[in-house]
Amino acid sequence: MKEEIQKQFLARFGKTEAIYASSGRINLIGEHTDYNGGFVMPGAIDKCIMAEVRTNGLDKVRVYSMDIDEYVEFGLNEEDAPKQQWARYIFGVCREVIKRGFVVKGFDAVFSGNIPLGAGLSSSAALESCFAYAMNDMFNGNKIDKFELARIGQSTEHNYCGVNCGIMDQFASVFGKENCLIRLDCRSLEYEYFPFEPKGYKLVLLDSAVKHELVDSPYNKRRESCERVANTLGVPSLRDAEMADLNAHKGEITEEDFKRAEYVIGEKQRVLDVCDALKRGDYETVGKKMYETHEGLSKYYEVSCEELDYLNDIAKECGVTGSRIMGGGFGGCTINLVKDELHDAFIETAKKKFAEKYGHEPKVYDVIISDGARRVE
Ligand code: ADP
Ligand code: MG
Repeated sequence: MKEEIQKQFLARFGKTEAIYASSGRINLIGEHTDYNGGFVMPGAIDKCIMAEVRTNGLDKVRVYSMDIDEYVEFGLNEEDAPKQQWARYIFGVCREVIKRGFVVKGFDAVFSGNIPLGAGLSSSAALESCFAYAMNDMFNGNKIDKFELARIGQSTEHNYCGVNCGIMDQFASVFGKENCLIRLDCRSLEYEYFPFEPKGYKLVLLDSAVKHELVDSPYNKRRESCERVANTLGVPSLRDAEMADLNAHKGEITEEDFKRAEYVIGEKQRVLDVCDALKRGDYETVGKKMYETHEGLSKYYEVSCEELDYLNDIAKECGVTGSRIMGGGFGGCTINLVKDELHDAFIETAKKKFAEKYGHEPKVYDVIISDGARRVE
């Protein structure tokens, strides 16, 4: 990828200078916990956006997207927003850097990536983080701290792309480290690295390629359930609740809200259990917790769907160590921790059985936990 990007850059702009990259991400465990002030456990992956970037002495940005095969120019003032979605991510990053009192000057760029778009691996966060990192390195002597780089990406989604996202994706893309997952406390934003070197196992994502459009905004309904229970328990968020508190108030909570809260409180503990297991290198326990999360998301939180439950069942039948929905649910991927020797048979079986039932194969992405935002050259 690097050579091809540099070749394209040379052809268009004459002389290369610096090349940057940032990664997509997975989340091993900790789902629907962010808005409850809980923990998530993301890591950057070996799929990235890579960009050759050089100052051009002009007051505008000239950028070519290799994958979309489109060239765009834009100025750096608020009214200069490009109309192409992909370019708005870059423009947004420039604007958010400038809004924070830092410097962006005109530059040329050519970029490409190998993160599947819209599969739940956060290609958009990788794009933002790559350019945020580049702007920091090229124009600001790396004075912007890494958390602010992540916030620049998040604000870009909010203010220029109409996506009201949390901080996890950009955080993981910026802070990602080879062979490490990062436990992020979504309330305090404290974080800690945990070793993730599953020798003898692979991490593989199966993308169901379905997305169920739901009418009555289940995401908001889940949030409301969690808030109601927290109110009843007299705590700021479910992060502060234990199962004993929940049980003590059982009579005052609807059956449905109870199940939702039970999942969230359980998930908090599961993340902590996974962290302990990772310290011991105990991947069997990690896998068990992944299955428990799936079960919780499916039966208690009720954000799964037939296709994802089916992929989870196939994983179980194939003896896969751990498997669960990754992301908000109602479609998208499962993330699977599978022994090396079972990997190929699992993929074969999953493709075949899923296609028999749903008419198309799931897409398969093997991932390795890798570095996040960086200067490559
Ligand atoms: P994801 O879950 O992958 O982040 P999004 O819809 O949030 O999905 O972001 C995908 C968008 O990010 C694409 O529509 C495109 O605008 C931009 N993007 C991601 N990867 C690339 C790429 N390699 N080249 C150009 N644009 C990209
Ligand atoms: Mg995105």
